[in-house]
Amino acid sequence: MEGRADLHMHTAHSDGAFSTDELLRKANEAGLSIISITDHDNVAAVDEAIEAGKQYGIEVIPGVELSAGVGEQEVHILAYFFDHKNQDLLDHLMFFRMERVKRAERIVGKLNNLNVPLSLDAVLERAGMGSVGRPHIATALYEEGLTGSYHEAFYKYIGNGKPAYEKKFQVSPQAAIELIASAGGLSFVAHPANSLDEAILLEFIKEGVDGIEVVHPSHSPERVMHYSGIVNEYFLLACGGSDFHGGRRNDQELLGKYYISLDHVQEMRRRLRQ
Ligand code: AMP
Ligand code: FE
Ligand code: FE
Ligand code: ZN
Repeated sequence: MEGRADLHMHTAHSDGAFSTDELLRKANEAGLSIISITDHDNVAAVDEAIEAGKQYGIEVIPGVELSAGVGEQEVHILAYFFDHKNQDLLDHLMFFRMERVKRAERIVGKLNNLNVPLSLDAVLERAGMGSVGRPHIATALYEEGLTGSYHEAFYKYIGNGKPAYEKKFQVSPQAAIELIASAGGLSFVAHPANSLDEAILLEFIKEGVDGIEVVHPSHSPERVMHYSGIVNEYFLLACGGSDFHGGRRNDQELLGKYYISLDHVQEMRRRLRQ
């Protein structure tokens, strides 16, 4: 089957810059035929995207990105093909989003103690109705003139291990995989090359994760080969995509460049029927 599937991108319902409609327009321009929007802890874009996809003939697979905790490490989990109206899943996502607000409040508290007069409202304004994350805090810091750049916000204050850093609420890998499975979906370890050591990846495989994100902008060709090997060895599924956010990340050119084949998506459907 000919065609490109990008199963990793974000809208303004989390920390992406664009609305769902704008993102679909860009996906179409990039020549994608299947996409999944994987907002952090939020599925608000799914119905919008399915609707907007119709005018371009783009198929939209329900998706979401969760944050799990393994010891001190944060591991992202991508999920697909679940029932995006499943009430238990929606309740959990709502809880995760509320915890994100509390964490933003803790970060703002730390910033204030460091004599950086940022208000929580300035942050929440930038997040709108979407999941609030550090990118919104960095944007607020920069736009309020409290840092010289967006990136300075991270290396001076809110980056991992910096003075105003706070962890967010993280589910256990088991709980995340179960939550997805009971909503009828498949779960994948996201962009493992970012931070993940191999022992943790194997732990996820033991817990029953369905696959690994093989294609991602942070993965070198060697890493892609490496993860494809693991996928084959353990009879897992492979997913992949651009992790497109837009805006300050200036990653417009990512769309259409990081993708998997439609056969990979077919494999997922086959697994769902088993
Ligand atoms: P959060 O999920 O709220 O912890 O935010 C994580 C996001 O913040 C990542 O996906 C990156 O977009 C961004 N981020 C984290 N660390 C940095 C950094 N050092 N420089 C720039 N962006 C960062
Ligand atoms: Fe993000
Ligand atoms: Fe991620
Ligand atoms: Zn992502």
